[in-house]
Amino acid sequence: MENETPKCPQCNVNNHVVLINRTQKLGTAVGGVAGSAAGYASASSGAIVGATIGSAFMPVIGTGMGTVTGALAGALAGFFAGATIGNQVGEHIDRHVIGHWHCNRCGAEFEE
Ligand SMILES: [Zn+2]
Repeated sequence: MENETPKCPQCNVNNHVVLINRTQKLGTAVGGVAGSAAGYASASSGAIVGATIGSAFMPVIGTGMGTVTGALAGALAGFFAGATIGNQVGEHIDRHVIGHWHCNRCGAEFEE
C-alpha cells in the first residue's frame, strides 16, 4: 500500500489532506462497463453450462432458467472484476499521474 500523503502548503500538515480521485471514479465506471461487456462475451459458455445443468434437472423451464442465470452471472462477475481493475488503474493515475490533493481543513487544492 502506498501512503505518501503530501503536506498542505498552507497548514503544513497532511492530517486533513485527501487525494482527489476523479480518475478513480471514472476508472470504476469504465472498467465496470468494459468488464460487463467482457462478461457477456464469456457468458455464452456460462449460459450453455447453465442450460445444460438446468435441462438435466428440469427440462424446458430449466433450460431457459439456466441460460438466463448463466448469462447474468457472467455479466455480473465481469462487471465487478472490471470495476475493481478500473478502480485500481484510476487510483494509480490519480496518485501518480495527476496528483491533485485537497485539504479539508483550509480547502486548498494543490498538486504534489
Ligand atoms: Zn490546509
